[in-house]
Amino acid sequence: MESASVETMKEIYKTSETVKELIKGVPKGAPRAGWVYALIEQHRTASTGSVSGVVSCRAGCGACCHTKVMVNAEEADLLVMAAEKKNWAIDKIRLKIQKDFLSSDFYEADELVSRCVFLDDYQMCKIYEVRPMACRNLLVTTPAEYCKTDPDELKVVQVADLLPEVIAEAYDEVIGEKGSIAEMILDRIC
Ligand code: SF4
Repeated sequence: MESASVETMKEIYKTSETVKELIKGVPKGAPRAGWVYALIEQHRTASTGSVSGVVSCRAGCGACCHTKVMVNAEEADLLVMAAEKKNWAIDKIRLKIQKDFLSSDFYEADELVSRCVFLDDYQMCKIYEVRPMACRNLLVTTPAEYCKTDPDELKVVQVADLLPEVIAEAYDEVIGEKGSIAEMILDRIC
């Protein structure tokens, strides 16, 4: 008889393959990212009551918006479309600086330099409805004031939301191309 963990891994693999087929059935392009986000949110509500009950992420924290956020090609297209739709000029100078940043550079840079180009002056995401999967799935259970971008900050406890993580992983595998927000957006607007 197989152990519970092997059974669980098989179930995860099966779910991932099912999600990939579902995603492949949706027309390619930026709107597909929105479709995947809706799927993530739907499954977060449906399957993770135990996680959502303990997550302490709150609007206006913004600590994780000063880190290297990775997006796939369709997510990047959607971000550019969202900015164009709202007629925002994306800060190319900041993107060019961030493009060469290692993850550790984000922790050392001035907050005005390290912050995401979509974060406003009140620490709110300007494109919240279409924020990337990485932003959606980064959840903590510790108080917002503990959140620092320094990886040595041991007080912060992250929590994984399994189904949304599986969906994100499956979508990335379908798309293939992935990079930091700075790299991917510069590729599209320069
Ligand atoms: S896209 Fe929005 S949520 Fe994600 S890092 Fe940028 S400001 Fe933060």
